[in-house]
Amino acid sequence: MDINEAIRLVQAGKIKLSENCELCNRRADGVCIFVPKPEFAIKIGQPEGKTRMALYPSCSVCQKNLGTDEYMRRIELVMQADTLPDGERNIE
Ligand SMILES: [Zn+2]
Repeated sequence: MDINEAIRLVQAGKIKLSENCELCNRRADGVCIFVPKPEFAIKIGQPEGKTRMALYPSCSVCQKNLGTDEYMRRIELVMQADTLPDGERNIE
């Protein structure tokens, strides 16, 4: 599925995301697209020649309070925990 199509489905309510921010569990006020760096994408099983993307609910409070770098680092950890088998999780 193309990312624009995915966003359209979310906006139309056909794909349901959690209503709470992925990081702090406050009510989300936005949807973000996570595009993993190549080395991370391979770790979570990206097929050859494909780009992995994930949509996730987010809140502007986290983005504002954490700053872009820290925010992205934490999202990466959450995405990693969601995609790796149990026992390989490494959340701080
Ligand atoms: Zn948040």
